[in-house]
Amino acid sequence: MKQSQLFTKTRHEAPKDEVAKNAQLLIRAGYVNKEMAGVYDFLPLGLRTLNKIVGIIREEMNAIGGVELSLTALQDKKIWEATDRWDDKKVDIWFKTKLQNGTDLGLAITHEEPLTQLMKDHIRSFRDLPRAVYQFQTKFRNEVRAKSGIMRGREFLMKDLYAFSRDVAERDAFYEKAQQAYVNVFNRLGIGDKTYMTFASGGLFSKYSHEFQTLTEAGEDTIYVYEGAEKNGQGQIKIAVNKEVLNDEVLTDLGIKRADLVEKKAVEVGNIFKLGTRFSEALGLVYQDEKGKSIPVEMSSYGMGPGRLMGTIVELMADEKGLVWPEAVAPFAVHLVALFDKNGKVSEAADVLYEKLTARGIEVLYDDRDATAGEKFSDSDLIGIPLRYVISEKTLAKNGSEGDAGSVEVKNRATGKVEIRPISSL
Ligand code: ATP
Ligand code: MG
Repeated sequence: MKQSQLFTKTRHEAPKDEVAKNAQLLIRAGYVNKEMAGVYDFLPLGLRTLNKIVGIIREEMNAIGGVELSLTALQDKKIWEATDRWDDKKVDIWFKTKLQNGTDLGLAITHEEPLTQLMKDHIRSFRDLPRAVYQFQTKFRNEVRAKSGIMRGREFLMKDLYAFSRDVAERDAFYEKAQQAYVNVFNRLGIGDKTYMTFASGGLFSKYSHEFQTLTEAGEDTIYVYEGAEKNGQGQIKIAVNKEVLNDEVLTDLGIKRADLVEKKAVEVGNIFKLGTRFSEALGLVYQDEKGKSIPVEMSSYGMGPGRLMGTIVELMADEKGLVWPEAVAPFAVHLVALFDKNGKVSEAADVLYEKLTARGIEVLYDDRDATAGEKFSDSDLIGIPLRYVISEKTLAKNGSEGDAGSVEVKNRATGKVEIRPISSL
């Protein structure tokens, strides 16, 4: 993409009412726009980054047999009454609305109810199980506090996968596969070393649920991380305990000592849950087993927040100059910054390099704007693309034996390392 076509402008200051570092930087760099507290638009750069995160999650969900669909955000009150989750006294974060004729509708807070209802048309016998179904879909939640930028939106994208199993053993087998898929996602996003599978309260059907918590001061949760496994170098999934369930019982269950736990601030980036038959029984999702007996389907749910992950990456990796993206999620791989000369040589060489790189499938943002070097460099630092190629009269003259196309200066955004490389080697 040519930067002259990118309509977003960077800015020096974030809005005064924006207190979260992630949103401050994302707004300044032109990735998101704040409509109001907890409500953010994704602008072209932001959407590219979000889509990279979505793509990684999608690959990992497909790898464990997930099948993608998309359910509606408008929800019929009746199915939520069947599970007793419509009443504002039971669920206090609903956005509700009405049809012209007065019929109540809700804007989806989550999708257990509609998907369970839908699967009644598709799951009838033991042969129809197991199933794993997921989506990337907008949720609406009237969050009381929305001060964490894109990490806590009132309208936000969620990846939610729901597994339907014959019995507890089949469900547990999938649950374990999903845990590993979650770890894969966090590793690929570059936050694996800071993310802990955290024991949290489990609801009616299991003792614990598992939250995936990433260490950051920007997090709203307090967890107790177990450092024993790392010390042993066992390479297993790193674990922690949420403050809400920290007691003697959980320590005994996990076979760990209080002294091995360290208190940390963290953000929940994912959450996996054994639902049992709470939803299948309430809505009548049953299957016939081999003997023709009707059995309620065993369910589990697997949530993850792509926007919250994006905010978390910003919180962890940004520096005083701006955003710093890992390659896997950066909106572009290369920021080609051209410092134009009077006779048009730089612009000619930069155009050719841009065409060559893009023709090879490399994602390039090409700063072809008529702006000063200072403006271009500070924008480039703020936008945070992993590699910056600077092309100028000076670089073109380097390595400039006759017929040679010259060089560019390559700067690594994360490490600050600079090297001069011949254009022919890029
Ligand atoms: P929290 O305790 O932080 O409110 P939750 O328990 O309500 O999270 P779930 O309902 O399990 O979250 O949602 C699944 C995932 O969706 C979370 O792990 C998180 O990554 C993401 N998520 C939840 N609420 C928000 C939000 N308001 N904004 C952005 N992402 C969110
Ligand atoms: Mg919540």
